[in-house]
Amino acid sequence: MSRITCVVCGMQINEKNYNFNEEAFMKSNDKENVIYCPFCGAPMEYLIENGEEIKYDRKKLDENALKIIDHAVKLEVFNGDFYKIASSMAKNEEVKKMFKALSNIEYMHAKIHKKIGNLKEMPVLRKMDYSKCKSDEELLAAACQREKHAVGYYRKYEKEIHEESISKIFTVLSVVEEEHVVLTSQD
Ligand SMILES: [Zn+2]
Repeated sequence: MSRITCVVCGMQINEKNYNFNEEAFMKSNDKENVIYCPFCGAPMEYLIENGEEIKYDRKKLDENALKIIDHAVKLEVFNGDFYKIASSMAKNEEVKKMFKALSNIEYMHAKIHKKIGNLKEMPVLRKMDYSKCKSDEELLAAACQREKHAVGYYRKYEKEIHEESISKIFTVLSVVEEEHVVLTSQD
């Protein structure tokens, strides 16, 4: 297997990690055919042999854009936290594993935004109460709603970021979250 870099999150993909978080994807990566970044979920056109992380010009970010990115970090930490707890609450083993993998991916998205926004620390958010989610079905419904919100967020604000590469990252992440909508939907 050749050395592949995900140019969205900057992670190196190799034979030891190509199948990480596989429960968070519709299709599986194969050693010789890696179709998703196992860390952030970016599709294969962003997985480049000896590639380099997408470069962006932070100077082009105005106050509005920085606010959007700051909120994006929080949104992803919020969803990462949710999946972590949902994973501990879920009864079905497959659902549990999927939530755990989704949690890792959402935290990676938060890391991507943290780097873009040049933030020193990851935000720590107020603990939420999920006690009203009594069943796996309710947890999945809550997850699906969050994913739809994330897709909407990226779609709405990608246009307000006037830095091409960062706007592109928003588009990529909206596609990743769209797949999460399908994964967590129960119809
Ligand atoms: Zn990635």
